[in-house]
Amino acid sequence: MSSYPRVTAKTEKLRENIDTAIRECKEAGIRVAGVIKGFHGIKEFLPVYLESNLNELASSRIEQLKRARDMGWTGGLMLVRVPMISEAEDVVTITDTSLNSETAVLEALNQAALKLTPNKPHKVILMADLGDLREGFWDKEEMISTAVRVEKEMPGLHLAGVGTNIGCYGALVPTKEKTEELIPIAREIEERIGRKLEIVSGGASTSYMRLTDGDMPEGVNHLRLGENILLARDNEVYHGHSTEPMNQNIFTLQAEVIEVKDKPSYPQGQIHVDAFGHTPYYEDRGIRKRALVAVGRVDIGDFNDIFPKMEGVEILGGSSDHTILDVQQVFDAGGEIKVGDILEFDLNYGSLVFLTGSENVHFVLE
Ligand SMILES: *Cc1c(COP(=O)(O)O)cnc(C)c1O
Repeated sequence: MSSYPRVTAKTEKLRENIDTAIRECKEAGIRVAGVIKGFHGIKEFLPVYLESNLNELASSRIEQLKRARDMGWTGGLMLVRVPMISEAEDVVTITDTSLNSETAVLEALNQAALKLTPNKPHKVILMADLGDLREGFWDKEEMISTAVRVEKEMPGLHLAGVGTNIGCYGALVPTKEKTEELIPIAREIEERIGRKLEIVSGGASTSYMRLTDGDMPEGVNHLRLGENILLARDNEVYHGHSTEPMNQNIFTLQAEVIEVKDKPSYPQGQIHVDAFGHTPYYEDRGIRKRALVAVGRVDIGDFNDIFPKMEGVEILGGSSDHTILDVQQVFDAGGEIKVGDILEFDLNYGSLVFLTGSENVHFVLE
């Protein structure tokens, strides 16, 4: 079997990022769930997480959590997407905790737990939608009464706490004020059920900015962190917020050059639509040196999500299975790229999640 395209991961740097997250969160009284969905929880990269000091792994996909368990993980497992009713039995047998927002799902989980894990209640966290408009209770009275109902009427479940997610769909910034809205909801529920909640889960990687700025609202004691451990890129690129001391560029795509030729930069003939039914813009820059590498949109998702490491290499676009590069500047500068060469690219969250889900790609921990 050929071994390209390939994604490599730097074990030591990833381990350091996990340790940094655990340490920095601990100083603020926060526990970390290590979210593995950004790399599809693939078996090749999971060992770094399995051997870490995390005590909880999380994913939106139950298959990935099961894989972690099958590979020997004995710590906690958290499902961070609201469960499908059709997966309720797997949720209670495979995971320890799930994030929830619907009574019908909670009832299904309760029934499944009573039947399959009668001695081990399934833990649930109720999600509050604070304006991001993805999952969570919008009506906070409904959230509080549902919490009371879980506590009093669903013996198969244990109400572990409340949570929120800020910045995934609605592109909200997790400011201190926004995050803080979760706290009175938690306190009200505690008053109504007459005990403390164990978990107030304040958000995902973007919420890490509250931690490093030292203004995480009092009461938040849990974060679910994927991107800021794996890539530590988005808070810097999108929010201008340093992600130091996290390591970046842990993952590298290596792809093989299969053609290098001088060609016009403007398509010759009548222009209509490309392989995806779109009509892109082509700039006419005359005859240019171009290279094809054997990796494509089915592997990457979006050509804007990979970043050539070699100076002078520019991504023009591509199709399902090809990426087209303008490499004229490499040659102008006295360099060379030839068929059979391996070119390297840095990744972001989008390309990492696509590449690790592609069965054409090979994975190497180094
Ligand atoms: C994906 C997800 C996370 C982790 O997000 P990152 O931005 O990768 O840290 C946390 N919580 C929920 C509910 C998620 O869906």
